[in-house]
Parts: sequence; C-alpha cells; structure tokens
Amino acid sequence: MIDRVLVVGGGVGGMSAAVSLARQGVAVELIDSDPEWRAYGAGISVTGLSLRAFEHLGVLDKVRERGFVGGGIRLRTPDGTVVMESPPLPEDAPAVECSGGIMRPVLHAIMQEAVREAGVTVSLGLEPTGFAEGEGAITVALSDGSERTVDLVIAADGIFSKTRAALFPEAAAPKFTGQGCWRIVADRPAHVTTTEMYIGGPVKLGINPISADKVYAFILEHVPDNPWFAEADMLPRVAELLAPFGGDIAAIRDNLGEHSLVNYRPLEWQLLPLPWHKGRVVVIGDAAHATTPHMASGAGLAAEDGIVLAEELAKTDDLAAALTAFGERRFERARLVVENSVRIGEIEMSGGNQVDANKMLGGTMHKLKEPY
Ligand SMILES: Cc1cc2nc3c(=O)[nH]c(=O)nc-3n(C[C@H](O)[C@H](O)[C@H](O)COP(=O)(O)OP(=O)(O)OC[C@H]3O[C@@H](n4cnc5c(N)ncnc54)[C@H](O)[C@@H]3O)c2cc1C
Repeated sequence: MIDRVLVVGGGVGGMSAAVSLARQGVAVELIDSDPEWRAYGAGISVTGLSLRAFEHLGVLDKVRERGFVGGGIRLRTPDGTVVMESPPLPEDAPAVECSGGIMRPVLHAIMQEAVREAGVTVSLGLEPTGFAEGEGAITVALSDGSERTVDLVIAADGIFSKTRAALFPEAAAPKFTGQGCWRIVADRPAHVTTTEMYIGGPVKLGINPISADKVYAFILEHVPDNPWFAEADMLPRVAELLAPFGGDIAAIRDNLGEHSLVNYRPLEWQLLPLPWHKGRVVVIGDAAHATTPHMASGAGLAAEDGIVLAEELAKTDDLAAALTAFGERRFERARLVVENSVRIGEIEMSGGNQVDANKMLGGTMHKLKEPY
C-alpha cells in the first residue's frame, strides 16, 4: 500500500503524477530544484493526447481559456499561398481529436494550481542527494540536509535527470539529433485559426495560436555542429531564417525586436530501456523517454505517465508489480513517439522523401489516439 510519495521534478510529468496520486488519497510532496518553479517562456503545441490527458486531470477548460484549442491544419508555400486546408472540426469534437497551443509558463501555472488544489506539499529549491532503501520504505537525503522517508519516489526530473543517472548509471546519455529548434512569440493575425505549416522552404517552419492574440512560430534548423548562440546573435539569426518567407511570416520578421521572446534549444532524445524502476524509485516523463518535438507529444506523454502510474498503483498493493505494469503499459507508446520523431528529423536533414515522413507522422498520431 502506497501512503507517502515524493515526486522529484515539477514539470508536466511530475505535476500530473502528484495530482493523480493526491486525488487517490496519497500524501504527496513534490520538490523542484528551481526555487521559483519556473518554465521557460516559449510556446508549446498541444496535440490530442495532451488535451485528453489535461481533460482527465481536470485542467482542459483552463487550457481552452488561457491557451488556444482548435483543430486541423493549413499548409502554405513559403510565399504564404494556401495549398491545403483541413475541414473545420465540429464544435463538440472530443479533446483527443483537437489540437492547439499555449505558452509553457501558462500551462505550468494551470497545472501548479491543480497541484495546490489537490493538497500536494510543494517544496522548492531542493534536489535529492542520496537514496537509502530500507525495510518497506526509502529515505531520500535532500540538498538542504533534510530527509524524507516515503513508500515511493517518482523521478520526473527531465531529460537530464540526475535521479536516472544515479539509479541507472549504465543508461545512455541524451543524444543530439543534428537539429535545433527556434521558437518565437508574435502577434496573432485574426485569420490564423489553426496550426499552419510552410512547406517547401529552406527550413521547416510553422505557426500555432497560443492564445486569443498570440501565436508562436517554430523553426527546425539543421545544425550538425550543434552551435551555441549568444543572446545578441539570436534575433539576427531568426530574422535570417525567416527571410525567405512571405505573408504572415514577413510581418513576424518585420516586428522582431528587443521585446521579442526568442528561444533556441538543440534537439536531443533518449529512451531508457525497461525496467523504468529500481526498488522504490520509478522514472517518468522526459527522464524516461525524451523526444524531439516532431509530434508535439512529449508533454502529453509525460502527463499520461502520471495518470497511468497512479492507476497502476491503485490496482494492487504489490509495488514491484505495479511499477512493472506501469513500464510495460508505457514503453511501446513512448518508443513509438521517440523513434518516429527522430526518424522524421533524419528524413528532414537528409532531404529524404517527405511523403514517407508525413505517412509516419500521420500513422503515429492516429495510433496515439488509442486509449493509453
Ligand atoms: C525545443 C522543444 C520543443 C518542444 N515542443 C513540444 C511541444 O510543442 N509539445 C509537447 O507536447 N512537447 C514538446 N516538447 C517536449 C516537452 O517539452 C517535454 O516532453 C516535457 O516538458 C517533459 O515534461 P517532464 O515533466 O518530464 O520534464 P520537464 O518539463 O523537463 O520538467 C522537469 C522538472 O524537474 C526539475 N528538476 C530538474 N532536475 C531536478 C532535480 N535534480 N531535483 C528536483 N527537480 C529537478 C526541473 O526544474 C523541472 O521543473 C518540446 C521539447 C523541446 C526540447
């Protein structure tokens, strides 16, 4: 029987697990190493699996209010000409058929509200420094010198998880794929009511509404040398990448300035082989399976992990059996997203067959609509 849980890491995965378990009556403490529990300022796309998980967690209405939820896709050529548009979704379409976008700090604020409302204890500016498993419990030493003795530790500390490194020292480190992702927040033209992709240009470019008046633009650039960009170089680089595009993209480029929110991240991935637990510690979210954003599903997978883990823990008093069942229920789904996302990136970088990439994307997104 699980009564006390320590969640390490308050991103989407950790918060989903904390909320789900607290609602089952478990005493949950969530720690995050960031004393301010921030999320960096960039837009994030939310696909059907993310929205279904947010609905399960009871936060979908707030995501609709403070972000953007719609559906479909519009394809444009680099000069802005529309070449394809999917038909509008019915008003009552289920969450899993929808898609949208939201600022990451807004999504985190919504989930943080749910964490507090569920009665989770939140302790910030803390990280684990050691784990000692005893008879029927595990004691975690924390960076402020204190200790917590709990039934289960959930490691949701992201792609560079120190808990994973401590638990599974043999696990492969995250790998750089060769692409970098730029994200820019801009004013939303009234006619941008869905995700828009610009096809046939020198870089992969799309825009997605993230609220009533803002969009975020994302650019995937092939950067084999994995360069580092100084703050001062970011705006000029983004302007250069946007230069071949017309229409709304030209307006976004013309309005770039010191006020602009620009974020750059090299793309890395990792997939921890099963088991995802050792003794009384289980690894979830990006700490277990970090993907590139080609399917915009990493946050959704992390949210699902938290929900599924709580479900498996509620089914049995046998902790090892519950953690094994959790890993087995999640691995294939995570592998599908991670490996197919990486493969699509490879096709993009090598100038390979875009039809194959689109088929893989469509097939995977369809599969992800199945129950988790
Ligand atoms: C460029 C880029 C674009 C992306 N776009 C999308 C998208 O559009 N849609 C989508 O669904 N996904 C997207 N993703 C993936 C998504 O961001 C991740 O899958 C998701 O954030 C994973 O959530 P998480 O909770 O597992 O980890 P994280 O969000 O990384 O959270 C980890 C938390 O742990 C804390 N932490 C770290 N170390 C410690 C420690 N030692 N002790 C305590 N706390 C610690 C951190 O402060 C953080 O709060 C993108 C990823 C990248 C790189």
